Amino acid sequence: MIFSFYIPTKVFFGKDCIKTNSNEIAKLGSKALIVTGKSSSDKNGSFAEISSTLKNLNIEYIRFNEVEANPSVETVLKGGELAGEFKADFIIGIGGGSPLDAAKAIAILASNNIDDESLFSGQYKNKPLPLVAVPTTAGTGSEVTPYSILTYKKINNKKSIASPEIFPAIGFLDAKFTETLSMETTINTAIDAMSHSLEGYLSARASEIIKPLALESLKILAIHLKKISEGKKISFEDRENLLYASMLGGMVIAHTATTAVHAMGYPLTYFRNIDHGRANGLVMAAYMEFLHNNGRDLTEILYTMDLKDPGEFKSFMDSLLGQKESLSDSEIELFTDTTMTSKNIANTKPSPSREDIKEIFVKSFH
Ligand code: NAP
Ligand code: FE
Repeated sequence: MIFSFYIPTKVFFGKDCIKTNSNEIAKLGSKALIVTGKSSSDKNGSFAEISSTLKNLNIEYIRFNEVEANPSVETVLKGGELAGEFKADFIIGIGGGSPLDAAKAIAILASNNIDDESLFSGQYKNKPLPLVAVPTTAGTGSEVTPYSILTYKKINNKKSIASPEIFPAIGFLDAKFTETLSMETTINTAIDAMSHSLEGYLSARASEIIKPLALESLKILAIHLKKISEGKKISFEDRENLLYASMLGGMVIAHTATTAVHAMGYPLTYFRNIDHGRANGLVMAAYMEFLHNNGRDLTEILYTMDLKDPGEFKSFMDSLLGQKESLSDSEIELFTDTTMTSKNIANTKPSPSREDIKEIFVKSFH
């Protein structure tokens, strides 16, 4: 058996974990830049909790609240400049994957005066600033990954920065901040987490230690997504389980990276503005069919999710996704070409050809 495992993030999980462990923040310095989305962190109480904690610790802070969904390179360059001018010692990202990913890129830019191309290189002269991550969605697992995914107009797609130096130093996971999520975002983000665990388990880079993390995450996500699709109410405990499963999915992709599903999801988001998790969900069943037809054994995954076969997997996904978007023939061609340029396509096993990817798009949308 051969594997390596590296998650340097200190994770604190549970209700009020920020207050209980605030001494950990004090170790990072005396000036912080807080990175958030437009408004959700005001509504769910996460910004107020962080700001009152910083006041109690006598840590000076300013806030950058301009992060949009699927953050752009332009936005993080702006945030990086602000962090540099303020002379921040550390960054605090609060929000869904978008503010957390933006905070990671800002942490790099705050200590490195570099252009967009060097930003994606993954290698930096100066160490990025330390980062505190407070997820308020249960999906990306960004609080425990070395990735920052940005919208990059120069290549007409999303592109990831991968560097062990952008693992957050601390992750505070308190599910009370996720209680304000709409059902739509709850489902889409849970599908994203499912996609991480499923792709990671099936990745060419999967190892033995990934399996229990991925399977536990998939079991929890399948139970809760079924409950939601049956219209049942979800409790605080359910929210905690979703946040936990999402973190496990993050730990999985921190080692395996993502595969064809994410590579196909990026153009769906870039060109059609489809939410990240939903974009993955739309192509996931046809991807599973592709693997099944090419000799991959899906038994353990399907058994864990209490599903009989790839057909039942498809019905499950259809029940979550509702009415699907449609794509024109020219969109399918463009999105296929775009997918083939993503580096995560190489982690797919077996390696898909252009025709295979096109067929997955066609099956997913017709
Ligand atoms: P998001 O883009 O961060 O947020 C989506 C929406 O949810 C925003 O409108 C946001 O509002 C709102 N929101 C966030 N928390 C909320 C809460 N507690 N209550 C109510 N609304 C809330 O969505 P996401 O799916 O979490 O993140 C997607 C991004 O993460 C994509 O760019 C994707 O590529 C990336 N990603 C990264 C990794 C990684 O390893 N780094 C992995 C997977 C995906 P506000 O704008 O007002 O905050
Ligand atoms: Fe994702």
